[in-house]
Amino acid sequence: MGANRHMSVDSRGRYTPEVAGEVMPGSEGPAGSRSHNLNSTRRASLMQEPVLVLNATYEPINVTAVRRAMVLMLKGVAQAEEMHNTEVHSAARAHRVPSVIRLLAYRHIPQQSRALSRKNILLRDRNTCQFCVRVFPSSELTLDHVVPRSRGGRSSWENLVACCYRCNNSKGDRTPEEAGLKLARRPRPFTLHTSRQLMRLIGHRDERWHKYLFY
Ligand SMILES: [Zn+2]
Repeated sequence: MGANRHMSVDSRGRYTPEVAGEVMPGSEGPAGSRSHNLNSTRRASLMQEPVLVLNATYEPINVTAVRRAMVLMLKGVAQAEEMHNTEVHSAARAHRVPSVIRLLAYRHIPQQSRALSRKNILLRDRNTCQFCVRVFPSSELTLDHVVPRSRGGRSSWENLVACCYRCNNSKGDRTPEEAGLKLARRPRPFTLHTSRQLMRLIGHRDERWHKYLFY
């Protein structure tokens, strides 16, 4: 393509993509970063760091990785709102690493955008057994049908909860009431509200996220 792929810095110190190139900042040329001694391992982990994604309206909608965020910026889909002080170098130039990006066009987020999966149920329930309210590693949790399948209980957001094996065994093929167990909270679909709680959990370690998440 050979077209220029410059990014300019606007008055607020943000990078503005001028050409929607497909350049990956991570794939630097041989004459790449001389001034920086980010070794490849550190750089690889840096590229996986979480980036908060805001809708055009500044509403937080997602968390992505630095690598993906930089692609969105280079494509002109998003622009950085907050930056780390770290840079990654491509053959041509240095790119500051985004911490928060914002989509330039508003995107409609469906009410229930998460797929029903074991991973997402555990995420929603924060790896907490919904009966004994203890936190477990994912490998020590199973999914419990609150109303057992044998009683017509469905595999749905409202009827599946994270459950440790011990509680799952003691519950057996019974409802929580019959088994003398109480749900920590009523299971709900993974909504934007749930996502925001998770964003806040992740965002605690990056103060650049706070003004978008805590208000
Ligand atoms: Zn339990």
